[in-house]
Amino acid sequence: MSESLLIDISKLGRKAYCFPVLDLPRGFEQALPEIPQELLRQKPARLPEVSELDVVRHFTRLSNQAYGVDNGSYPLGSCTMKYNPKLSEQIAKLEEFTSIHPLQDISTVQGCLSVMYNLLEDLSSITGMRWGSLQPCAGAHGEYTGLKMIRSYFLKRGDVDRNKVLVPVSAHGTNPASAVINGFEVVTVASDSEGLVDMDDLRSKLDSSVAALMLTNPNTLGLFEKNILQISSLVHEIGALLYYDGANLNAIMGMATPGDMGFDVIHLNLHKTFSTPHGGGGPGSGPVMVNEKLVPFLPKPDIELTDSGYVYNWELPDSIGKVSMFWGNFLVLVRAYVYILRMGSEGIRAASMHAVLNANYLKSRLKDSFEIPYAKGCMHEFVVSCDNLKKRYGITAQDIAKGLIDCGYHPPTMYFPSLVGEALMFEPTESESVETLDDFADTLIALLERAKADPAYLKGCPYTTPVGRLDEVKAVKEPNLHY
Ligand SMILES: *Cc1c(COP(=O)(O)O)cnc(C)c1O
Repeated sequence: MSESLLIDISKLGRKAYCFPVLDLPRGFEQALPEIPQELLRQKPARLPEVSELDVVRHFTRLSNQAYGVDNGSYPLGSCTMKYNPKLSEQIAKLEEFTSIHPLQDISTVQGCLSVMYNLLEDLSSITGMRWGSLQPCAGAHGEYTGLKMIRSYFLKRGDVDRNKVLVPVSAHGTNPASAVINGFEVVTVASDSEGLVDMDDLRSKLDSSVAALMLTNPNTLGLFEKNILQISSLVHEIGALLYYDGANLNAIMGMATPGDMGFDVIHLNLHKTFSTPHGGGGPGSGPVMVNEKLVPFLPKPDIELTDSGYVYNWELPDSIGKVSMFWGNFLVLVRAYVYILRMGSEGIRAASMHAVLNANYLKSRLKDSFEIPYAKGCMHEFVVSCDNLKKRYGITAQDIAKGLIDCGYHPPTMYFPSLVGEALMFEPTESESVETLDDFADTLIALLERAKADPAYLKGCPYTTPVGRLDEVKAVKEPNLHY
């Protein structure tokens, strides 16, 4: 049943509050400045009038309807919905972290600065980069920052005609968007039959007008770009830079680094790989990490460790400036740092190995029932196509996704990457046990059988949710957010 709005159950005069008896002297109002007539409200605001119990029940019911990784598995490919350890929450809640202000005297926030400094050191070693900035507040924001540094790097060298950024077709939509926002022209690079960067197409597009190639590795098909060293030398030979979309580092953490692969700049999504809660628009954190070439262009201020403690360094003449108020989402940084400390280097490596193992296990459980276009081993995620299902039974990727909701699972990512028709992208993450993966695979296979026998049933899914199938296009094109 759909939950009524509080305004719908409002009853005139019902209250959820009660004020203490006024203990100010009689007539105290006369001492207050008079509010101009035109600023006074003419009629009472239309607010919900409800009891305390109404409010408690309303929000408790809503919270029961919410689905998160604490309710069940959430195989949303590319989003890395892994478990968020409660330890990180407890530490991020400490008053020493929550009750500070970024403008207070630096001598009083040395602990917080040490968290950020140490986090930057750890992220530098995990990515094989020289240093970075924690300011960006999301993956896309990190991309923006990285490309802005690339632009400054070329301007500084007087190399002013590089106006193109190459982006593979399989890339996340934020890649071309970030390039355009930075004033670059986007040139798409094709994928070959294995789902990897098409080397001939890449060669044909590399020339002195190219500033950078943006690459995700493993790519969004869950495949490792095995020609990466060759790609890196081709890109550098023409004087361009190599950008790593590290939103999802979950396949390679502790095993390989973008630095060793030849990348010059990378952004990370702490709210994916480094296990901080996400979804619903934030808060996120998308640190950007760079090698020597780009260090001078990092956002400022930097944090430095001196004999008298941590200090801010604003004397960075080539810096692109600030990209965020203060330090980005500080409490997300705390959670990520706790995760890294708690896991240690062995734990981080083990997390990646389990993430890859889980994805391969699920893929092998599904391979006889579903069409899997790039069938070779995958990394942390893989993509299934419902093209044949659609042709033979009229069943789409969206139908399968909606059917899964009734089975108690969050759907996988749909219709991405766009080079796979009717795509479903699964990323189980390292959090799930083999029993959960088996149950999930059994559920999907049973759903598929039911769908083939009775397509009309699947077309009506979901049946168990407060609202049924929504008109998603209309919701995007004509959002109606008014009561
Ligand atoms: C999630 C994601 C992004 C964008 O990250 P946001 O924090 O949502 O801006 C970019 N690239 C890839 C591959 C991603 O999975």
